[in-house]
Amino acid sequence: MRRLPGNEDDTIIVRALAPAVPVRRRSLLYAGLGGGAALLTAAGLGAFWWQRRAKPIPIGTATEAEVDQTQPCKTTVTYLAPDKSVVVIDFPSLRAQGLTLDRVAAFVEKAGVPHNRLLDDAALDAAITSGGDTVASYYYGHDYQAVDLARFFALARSEGIALYPQELWLKQLLAQLGWLQPGANGAIITLPGAGGDVSPEMRAVILRHEISHGAFYTVPEYRHYVEQFWASLTPSDRAAFTAFLGRQGYDTSLTELMLNETQAYLIFTRDPRFFNAAVIGKTEAEVDQLRQGFIANMPNFWLTPLANSPLPPVPQSMPACPEKQAMLAPGKRLCLCYRRAGFACG
Ligand SMILES: [Zn+2]
Repeated sequence: MRRLPGNEDDTIIVRALAPAVPVRRRSLLYAGLGGGAALLTAAGLGAFWWQRRAKPIPIGTATEAEVDQTQPCKTTVTYLAPDKSVVVIDFPSLRAQGLTLDRVAAFVEKAGVPHNRLLDDAALDAAITSGGDTVASYYYGHDYQAVDLARFFALARSEGIALYPQELWLKQLLAQLGWLQPGANGAIITLPGAGGDVSPEMRAVILRHEISHGAFYTVPEYRHYVEQFWASLTPSDRAAFTAFLGRQGYDTSLTELMLNETQAYLIFTRDPRFFNAAVIGKTEAEVDQLRQGFIANMPNFWLTPLANSPLPPVPQSMPACPEKQAMLAPGKRLCLCYRRAGFACG
């Protein structure tokens, strides 16, 4: 999910907080391969790292409102209460989220990069920075279905792509869920913790948008309905949505992505900072008409009430995580929270 450029409080703060510094890597596993004491040290640390990783990742269950009211000081995983085939990953920051999922984003849906092979680190960094983004700002929220994630990790293995520790953590989670197996029905949706220019209210906007993607991936009847809706649009309406999504960095050649994002922005993203009538060249009345037509014929299931209901209430602000606050230094976003979750501090 992207935020619109040119809004009054756009991504400047995020970029200032999370500069495009070289990413610290899986050095514990690879740095010591030169031999001798360094090798033994690296092997020992590597074994320790894997031991920590071998522990099952705790997965709770939470409603939309419960996730919205949480300030995650470490990466938190929950089943979405109304549909446990949707798993919410709540990251402590945009940067933690980006390190885990930016390579997946490029592989699955970003424009200008291949979708049949993975980017190595240099190519990923180039893809991110070429659009003026950083690891943190590549997306505000992510959503992927199990089959695409399984394909990503199968390719990483067959192509010998070394992954970030955060990506290996995701692989462990997917293995634990059984989603690396053929035929798995599931989806992850993600959002960042409050901080920087991400307010508690914005978290709620992002989550509602991503929840609709979760439903699209896991409820075949809903996916079918969205496909029908897309087909029912006029060519100029489809072109307008496609152009808007192209400006957001999505690969417009992927029709399924276009129609999935259209339902998410049009129906489930009622915040003009992310979507408004002008970005598709329409009036508010015309957009309302499209919305009403979609909602009136929507299949009746757990997502349906969210199409019209206001976002759950959230606190005006959320206290910074104590560790994060303690570790903040000018120009850097260092955070013990990441360490607690097994992440290298960036
Ligand atoms: Zn989206």
